[in-house]
Amino acid sequence: MTIDTKTGNPYDIVLNNFDITAERLKLDKSIAKRIKFPERELTVNFPVKMRNGDVQIFVGHRVQHNTGRGPAKGGIRFHPDATLDHCRALATWMTWKCALVGIPFGGGKGSVICKPLEMNEYELEGLTRRYTSEISIIIGPEKDIPAPDMYTNERTMAWIMDTYSMIKGYCVPGVVTGKPLSIGGSLGRREATGRGVVFATECACEYLGLDITKTKSSVQGFGNVGSVSAKYLQKEGSKVIAVSDINGCIKNDEGLNILSLINYVKETGSIIGFSGAEVISNEEFINLDVDIFVPAALENQITEDNAGKIKAKIIVEGANGPTTPKADEILYKNGVFLVPDILANAGGVTVSYFEWVQNIQNFFWKETDINEKLKNVIVKAFEEVINISIKEKINTRLAANMLAVARVAEAISDRGIYP
Ligand code: NAD
Repeated sequence: MTIDTKTGNPYDIVLNNFDITAERLKLDKSIAKRIKFPERELTVNFPVKMRNGDVQIFVGHRVQHNTGRGPAKGGIRFHPDATLDHCRALATWMTWKCALVGIPFGGGKGSVICKPLEMNEYELEGLTRRYTSEISIIIGPEKDIPAPDMYTNERTMAWIMDTYSMIKGYCVPGVVTGKPLSIGGSLGRREATGRGVVFATECACEYLGLDITKTKSSVQGFGNVGSVSAKYLQKEGSKVIAVSDINGCIKNDEGLNILSLINYVKETGSIIGFSGAEVISNEEFINLDVDIFVPAALENQITEDNAGKIKAKIIVEGANGPTTPKADEILYKNGVFLVPDILANAGGVTVSYFEWVQNIQNFFWKETDINEKLKNVIVKAFEEVINISIKEKINTRLAANMLAVARVAEAISDRGIYP
């Protein structure tokens, strides 16, 4: 199969990176073939009654990439550009991510092609409930456990949990993570991905001998991951001078007040118009003179066209797949230190795992314990990745992929083939 890493299709990038990793690991060919492609893919076409009485047909997917180490785990995304290949890519990254941070899950991902920003609450609820019922045949606490991703949130997870529980006839909180606390959600889950991003940033600063309190940073995307990353970067003493969202980019050289900005976005839905900040172009935003850059929006944001202009010393990938392979090479050559996505944003799935464990035990933990456990997981994985990267003289992305793929390969090999 010829892989085109310039198409912008993240699944091409995933497959390409897998081949490089498998070759470097000298992975047994039959094992490599088994873990390269998804185990199961479900496509559903389903009707939803819209507010105006019309019936619209939506297309959704759920992909389970690998369940060798445990049930599939991964978010559900509502997006107009969602494709099956997107799901495959995101599900594969979930497999590597869970293995990298040592939690007993495989990788899954789901999506519905829709325009969530143009839909009202009634329509989103109808869409979520019907999609849940369509994929209910393959999800479940022991099989595949969804969570929030772009344009889905706690509310969405509550609808999924309720729909699945109605189908089963009893309450099944463990079918999703990222739920509201009232129905078995975990303390610390909402902020876990952003917190993890900042734990990883602190590790990177320490490794490079940078004092985080003397750094400037920028964050692309101001949703769950971006806003929480910005909040904790600021709390740790970094001056967050610029952020962006789907509507544009804003900057204040003296540092943005992130807590006020979060409140402003809650009220208005966008960062644009926030007082005490100037609007800048996306090009200016990417080229800013900062020490730390956190992409926390979409895939393919750092490409061969703009990677050479990036001045940041550290990039911490809050988003999944924000950097293309060509851009990776440029950043590595330019000495930019990269914390790859499967490590940087693993905080979300780690606390999702804690939520799932608490649901199974019906026993809930203190937030301080959860945050401490999360920090230990990220710091350990960071050290393991750095050690491989130094030993093998390779970039951190390949080091992280090698560690993760080797762990999945070991599990598959230990289990053997049924029947
Ligand atoms: P979200 O829906 O909460 O927020 C997305 C943000 O990105 C919004 O602020 C939106 O305006 C902005 N955005 C969209 N298009 C943009 C563009 N072209 N330029 C700049 N900003 C743009 O989503 P999220 O949950 O924060 O997810 C963001 C990324 O993090 C995704 O790649 C997701 O897969 C990844 N991720 C999320 C989690 C999680 O726990 N939510 C965990 C791991 C990884």
